[in-house]
Amino acid sequence: MAAAGKLSTFRLPPLPTIREIIKLLRLKAVKQPSQNRSANLKLIDKIVRKAGNLTNAYVYEVGPGPGGITRSILNANVAELLVVEKDTRFIPGLQMLSDAAPGKLRIVHGDVLTFKVEKAFPESLKRQWEDADPPNIHIIGNLPFSVSTPLIIKWLESVSCRDGPFAYGRTQLTLTFQKEVAERLTANTGGKQRSRLSVMAQYLCSVQHVFTIPGRAFVPKPEVDVGVVHFTPLIQPKIEQPFKLVEKVVQNAFQFRRKYCHRGLGMLFPEAQRVGSTGRLLQWADVDPTLRPSQLSISHFKSLCDVYRRMCDEDPNLFAYNFRDELKQRKRNTQETDEEESHRV
Ligand code: SAM
Repeated sequence: MAAAGKLSTFRLPPLPTIREIIKLLRLKAVKQPSQNRSANLKLIDKIVRKAGNLTNAYVYEVGPGPGGITRSILNANVAELLVVEKDTRFIPGLQMLSDAAPGKLRIVHGDVLTFKVEKAFPESLKRQWEDADPPNIHIIGNLPFSVSTPLIIKWLESVSCRDGPFAYGRTQLTLTFQKEVAERLTANTGGKQRSRLSVMAQYLCSVQHVFTIPGRAFVPKPEVDVGVVHFTPLIQPKIEQPFKLVEKVVQNAFQFRRKYCHRGLGMLFPEAQRVGSTGRLLQWADVDPTLRPSQLSISHFKSLCDVYRRMCDEDPNLFAYNFRDELKQRKRNTQETDEEESHRV
C-alpha cells in the first residue's frame, strides 16, 4: 500500500478498447441476462465513483466480464483489485489488464456465490464493527440479475453474522440490480415497492439507490433499466434478533401483500392456536392488525420480532412450524380418509 500522504497515481497504459477485446477473443455478446455489459464509459466511471473514495482501497469486483468496470477501478488508484469471474472466456482479457497493471489485479476464476472472501484481504485491514470508519475494502459489481438478488440476500445474512466480506468490518457494497429490485431495496414504509427485501436490507444497512442507468447503456440492451445501489452496514442493526427469525417474520408478514398484516403474521402459528397467538403477538408488539404489510415500519418489525422471539422461547416447537407443511399434511390426511371411505364403499 502507498505510504500515507504520498500520492501515487496510477493510470492504465493505452489498451485495446473493450469492443476490440470482445472481437479479439471472439466473445460474442449473446442476448441473455448474464451478458449485459456496461458500454458507456462515463456511466462506468459513475458507478465506480459512487462506491466512494477508492484511493489505496482494496476492491473486490464481482463478475468483471470483459473488464469495463475493472479498468475504471484500476484507474481510481486502488491498492489492489480482486476480481472473481465465472466465465472462462473472459479470463484472457482480464489477464491482459493484469499485465498492464502489475501487482494490482488478482484474478480468480470462480463463482461469487461460493467464493470465500473472508481470507482474501490482509488481516491488517480489519476494523472493529463499531468503528465510525468502515474498512478500506469495497465490493463493486454489475452481475446478472439472477445472481445479484440471491447474492445480496446471502450477504445480508453475512452482515448480520459479521462473516464473509463483513469479517473485515462494515464493508461497503455498490451493486447493480434490475431497477424494480433497487426500488424495493430502498422503498420507505407505505411505498408502492415496499417488500420483504426493503425490510431485510434496511434493518441491517443504510441503503441508497444512487442512480438509474437506462437499459440502452448496456450491450446487448436488457429489457429493463438498471439501478445502482450502495449499502453501508449499520453499526447497530435496527432489529437485534437472529437473521433467520427476522426473515421468517418478514416473509410471513408479506405473505398476503394486499390483506391486513394479521393474515400473513397468523401463518407463524399452527392453525389450532392461530387466532389467539396472532392476537397476542400483535397486542404485545403494539401493532394495529389492520395495517397492510407495506405500512409496517422497521420499528413495527422490531417489536414483532422481539415478541415472536419471546413466544419461541416459551414454545420450543414454534420456530420450526411451517404452515405449508401443515397444509400438506392436512391434504395427505384428507386423501387417506377419502381412500379409506372409497374402500369401505
Ligand atoms: N461487470 C461487467 C460489465 O459491467 O461490463 C460484466 C457484466 S455481465 C452482466 C456479468 C458478468 O458476471 C459476466 O461476465 C458473467 O460471466 C459474470 N458472472 C455471472 N455469474 C457469476 C458468478 N456466479 N460468479 C462470478 N461471475 C459471474
